[in-house]
Amino acid sequence: MAITAIKGCNDILPEESGRWQYIEQAARRIFERNGFSEIRVPIMEKTELFCRSIGDTSDIVEKEMYTFIDKGENSVTLRPEGTAGVMRAYIEHKLYAQDPVAKLYYLGPMFRYERPQKGRYRQFHQIGAEVTGVNDPLVDAQVLNMLCAFFREIGLDEPTLQINSLGCPECRPAYRAALVEFLQGRLDRLCDDCKRRFTSNPLRTLDCKVAGCGEATQGAPAMLDHLCGECDDHFSSVKRYLDLTGNQYGINPRMVRGLDYYTRTTFELVTGLLGSQSAVAAGGRYDGLISQLGGPSIPGIGFAIGVERVALLLGERDFSTKPDLFIATMGADQRDMAFRLLTDLQSRGHWVELDYEGKSLKSQMRRAGKLGARYSVVLGENELQAGQASFKRMVDGVLIETPLAADEIALLLG
Ligand code: ATP
Ligand code: MG
Repeated sequence: MAITAIKGCNDILPEESGRWQYIEQAARRIFERNGFSEIRVPIMEKTELFCRSIGDTSDIVEKEMYTFIDKGENSVTLRPEGTAGVMRAYIEHKLYAQDPVAKLYYLGPMFRYERPQKGRYRQFHQIGAEVTGVNDPLVDAQVLNMLCAFFREIGLDEPTLQINSLGCPECRPAYRAALVEFLQGRLDRLCDDCKRRFTSNPLRTLDCKVAGCGEATQGAPAMLDHLCGECDDHFSSVKRYLDLTGNQYGINPRMVRGLDYYTRTTFELVTGLLGSQSAVAAGGRYDGLISQLGGPSIPGIGFAIGVERVALLLGERDFSTKPDLFIATMGADQRDMAFRLLTDLQSRGHWVELDYEGKSLKSQMRRAGKLGARYSVVLGENELQAGQASFKRMVDGVLIETPLAADEIALLLG
């Protein structure tokens, strides 16, 4: 029996890859315009990195990581997200010594052991960005604006921005205590996971996707009502700057991100079109993370976009590229000429296709149509003798007499 791919790990076939390139190129364009540079870090890291950053009580560390012992008896993990590795590299290479303000982006595969379904896979891809070294709420708004600009750039207005604040180590403990008190009386209505979270990570009960938990936590106290003065000022400024950018957003006081390192501003871009896979991108501020990983006390903020979910939202549009010209030939002599034209036009930046197997003219023209070539031309003895041929513009069938010289044909192809 033929071997198949691992469950939840997808092939991105040629018919799909145009869509992926479209998404990735748009992200690079928008991010670079905002002063971000690409960083590429390993797909595997020491397991400890994720335990220490994402948090032992998060869903990711508790049950979603691909962790294994390698031949040298080291525990390694396939990265479930990008921020931890990027910050590990930032600290390890002392990038902060060159300039504490770093604007970095990355793209690539992430791995989580989850139940595969539409928009949720075991190998999936993220495009993410991080800014270190700036506390200023203006940068929160710039990062959010960049994220919204990316969705505008690819022509999607569907995911909508929701923001919240998770406070800081000053104000969160009192909030946590208020929430625990509220939940105490409703424990029997929570799912088993939430009963466990109630002691380890009570905020996560607000994020639970089980309907009963949603109902049981109706009216729960909100972090936004417990922010300390500084966190409150920060959140007000983020909203003010965001208003200046003109982006629409909503405030979602129940949004609790699944990673423990977040502080203050957190956000998601959500859609109603992908069922319970509603978050298309998400992120937040992580002012304690860099020091938690053994680096200096430097603040940070970032986000990650789920590429599969973006690709689903783009729907049926055709992102494939088409040949500029298909050259059909009647015989061996013309094939030499066609091959020479192909290489000359290619070096001028054009994509040219021809028939490889001496098929009938009819089947060659069928292939030209199937490939979606913009122009086609038939080379026979007459054309070779005359040194020119009729080039057919495929959209409307218009014929254009053109000399059989690469320069002239290149002009026609534009
Ligand atoms: P969810 O609530 O859907 O599980 P999450 O909170 O775990 O999402 P993050 O860790 O914030 O997600 O990752 C950022 C983005 O990566 C998500 O908004 C989503 O678009 C995407 N993503 C996360 N997990 C998966 C997955 N298993 N398959 C595909 N995309 C994913
Ligand atoms: Mg998740």
